[in-house]
Amino acid sequence: MYQFIRQRRWPDGISCSHCQSQQVEGNGNHQKQIARKSYRCLECHRRLDDLTLTIFSGHQQE
Ligand SMILES: [Zn+2]
Repeated sequence: MYQFIRQRRWPDGISCSHCQSQQVEGNGNHQKQIARKSYRCLECHRRLDDLTLTIFSGHQQE
């Protein structure tokens, strides 16, 4: 499911939900949900994951 969300919402790659930077690196899997990846933004150094991105990117949608 999370992979589907990623592919649908970020076909060109992940962007930070905080600063919109695309300089985001994978930060391993979520501790309890293997399929839910977490990330770290290289610009603002905040952590985010698939669920965070989904929730907070709402204002970016058309
Ligand atoms: Zn950021």
